[in-house]
Amino acid sequence: MSDIIQLLPDHVANQIAAGEVVQRPASVVKELLENAIDANATDIKLLIKDAGKILIQVIDNGIGMSQTDARLSFERHATSKIKKAEDLFNLHTKGFRGEALASIAAIAHVELKTKEEGKEVGTHIKIEGSKLIFQENTSTSIGTSIAVKNLFYNIPARRNFLKSNSIETRHIVNEFQRVALAHPNVSFSFYHNDNDVYNLIKGNLRQRIVAIFGKKTNEKLVPINEVTDILEINGFVAKPEFAKKKRGEQFFFVNDRFIKNAYLNHAVTNAFESLLSHGYFPTYFLYLTVPTKSIDINIHPTKTEIKFDDEKTLYAILRSTIKHSLGQYNVAPVLDFERSASFDTPYDFKHKKSETPKVSVNPDFNPFKSDTQKSISFPFKREKMPKWESLYAGIDVQHIEVEAETIPSSLFSEEKTTSKTYQIHKKYIVSSIKSGIVYINQHLAHQRILYEEFLENITVKEAMSQQLLFPLEISFNKDDIDLIKEIEADLKNIGFLFDKILDDTIIVKGIPTTIVESQITIIIEQLLEDIKNDIPNASFSQLDIMAKSLAKSLAIKTGTKLDLKEQEEIVNKLFSCKQPDISPFGKTTFVTEAIDEIDNKFNN
Ligand code: ADP
Ligand code: MG
Repeated sequence: MSDIIQLLPDHVANQIAAGEVVQRPASVVKELLENAIDANATDIKLLIKDAGKILIQVIDNGIGMSQTDARLSFERHATSKIKKAEDLFNLHTKGFRGEALASIAAIAHVELKTKEEGKEVGTHIKIEGSKLIFQENTSTSIGTSIAVKNLFYNIPARRNFLKSNSIETRHIVNEFQRVALAHPNVSFSFYHNDNDVYNLIKGNLRQRIVAIFGKKTNEKLVPINEVTDILEINGFVAKPEFAKKKRGEQFFFVNDRFIKNAYLNHAVTNAFESLLSHGYFPTYFLYLTVPTKSIDINIHPTKTEIKFDDEKTLYAILRSTIKHSLGQYNVAPVLDFERSASFDTPYDFKHKKSETPKVSVNPDFNPFKSDTQKSISFPFKREKMPKWESLYAGIDVQHIEVEAETIPSSLFSEEKTTSKTYQIHKKYIVSSIKSGIVYINQHLAHQRILYEEFLENITVKEAMSQQLLFPLEISFNKDDIDLIKEIEADLKNIGFLFDKILDDTIIVKGIPTTIVESQITIIIEQLLEDIKNDIPNASFSQLDIMAKSLAKSLAIKTGTKLDLKEQEEIVNKLFSCKQPDISPFGKTTFVTEAIDEIDNKFNN
């Protein structure tokens, strides 16, 4: 019998290889974007037409290619990224197989324009189904532009197999997001049929995540940072309350490469443990950096799978790092021990009759004053308050000098230059204490203060009320009106005065001094909502809910700048509270750091 084995012609071999590399337009997008990253581009544009079926073009400002390299780049196993087998174990690039461009050129119409830095002219190449149509000099900007048209034009079966435009676009968006998230220091833009889909300026990781997933994402993110001998972990997880019903936003990157790994995903999910209801998935953006020698990314052709040397240890480190961070951000559950009523309500209110509050008209009250200004008002008189330093055992206050920097002293005519508090990041109040340092979360601390104030007002004291210049009409539905009637006496105790309660409207003529007029509707609505959602009818808990609801609505927010006096008032009032260490919702209000803990950090 004669010999029957033949070598396949290159273009056939390339077409077969293409089947492995290019499953759909999104695969082309991935390969082209990764090539641009490997070429050190700092600005990358992606243009697609009709979900990539008509056109996929990537334009970068990277290192470009020489004339010879430009032609060679379309050959199979042509790569500039590895030279010898050992290089495979020390990869810092995305590509290394030298297959992508050859495969793509085998099944599409490809046009390349590229120029290296310092060169007068660039190269323009057109290839269709592996066949060189032309190569010529051209003038083009530094970097590379590759346009891929009519994908699968010569494999109708594959072309027909493509899904609808919306599904194929979804795949492209996914690939784009993965590359963009792995490289926040590169700017990306993405146009679909000339509409811009993303325009991402370079920034840090948090900014990149927010730019892709929306402004609201920002407040959801809990930072994760850990360095150990075998890996570094950075990134964010979303707080458990923002978990999704779909397994959507879960991103693992290893050495800046997007990967999927069920085992590590399990470690993250496990760290959330009881914090997630059944059927919810945590959102995460986690970046692992490991020595290149400890991984094998070569085990899967599309390279989203990865094998680690020491998976078990990675699992344990990842899980405990996330657990720790969730705990630090006060999102882990607090111990929910059996509470007695007196624990929640530190005042004896049982036998107190409801009374109409005394009305005092505040001459300074300005209904047009902005909410933020008003929300940091303190109705308590200072002299009534005991000094917190004597109350809070174990913490002694030391007065510290704050340097007035180079600001002219006239600016401080009314302000003292000595202070014992300091605000950082418009979020924490820091104070030096004899045993070290205390950090107070301003929002949570103020919640605690207001909660106890309201509870006291509701139960034992007569609250101050301010009369409105013009009584305010607010409409409610019938159920809400019934509820308002039920709690009318308590509302009066905290300072609300009603002119009338009609079938569908209430007319408010006085409000607590802590509230501004513009907030009234929101606060009452929130209050009714909270009462409806909690255990109804138990009169004690209803009062408690009211106090919590008001505290939540009125506490100064994170991001509010506090002057020294306001900082001090928070500190003083917090430590005059019966239960200063936790917010009404069970979160830690302050933490301390002992001086020897700080000392230790310097003794390494
Ligand atoms: P690989 O990325 O695995 O090396 P490719 O087929 O994707 O293989 O690319 C082949 C070669 O072409 C690359 O190794 C690189 O030298 C060159 N190349 C591809 N795209 C670009 C680009 N955008 N800028 C500069 N060089 C590129
Ligand atoms: Mg490549």
